[in-house]
Amino acid sequence: MAKYILEEVIKMNKTLTCEKCGQVEFGLVDGYCFGDRLLEDVMFEVRLDLKGKFKVKISPDSKDYFEELNTKKWLKTALDYVKEDDLLICPKCQDHRIPINQPKGFKPLPIKTIRFDDLMRELK
Ligand SMILES: [Zn+2]
Repeated sequence: MAKYILEEVIKMNKTLTCEKCGQVEFGLVDGYCFGDRLLEDVMFEVRLDLKGKFKVKISPDSKDYFEELNTKKWLKTALDYVKEDDLLICPKCQDHRIPINQPKGFKPLPIKTIRFDDLMRELK
């Protein structure tokens, strides 16, 4: 039981959550933030891998545009930017509402586990 709860907490901390829409598959970063006009309106998708590390990829809509650019270089620049960023754009509501890089990082929150009979005693 307790193990199950802990696993859930870890899992939750590795997903991205919009303050308005709830859990989202990925967050977005506008290339303009680090590439200026060259990357204006180019969106990068940001995901978390199983270890809680950021993964950045170019949004499918912008792939054609990127054929002429140094994709590898810009993906690295995007990743460096994301590591310092605090809010990603939500793909659903298009608002900056996905908090990342909180001071505590993505470590699981300490949660108090309690035995069922202790809980019943406390409720009495
Ligand atoms: Zn949203």
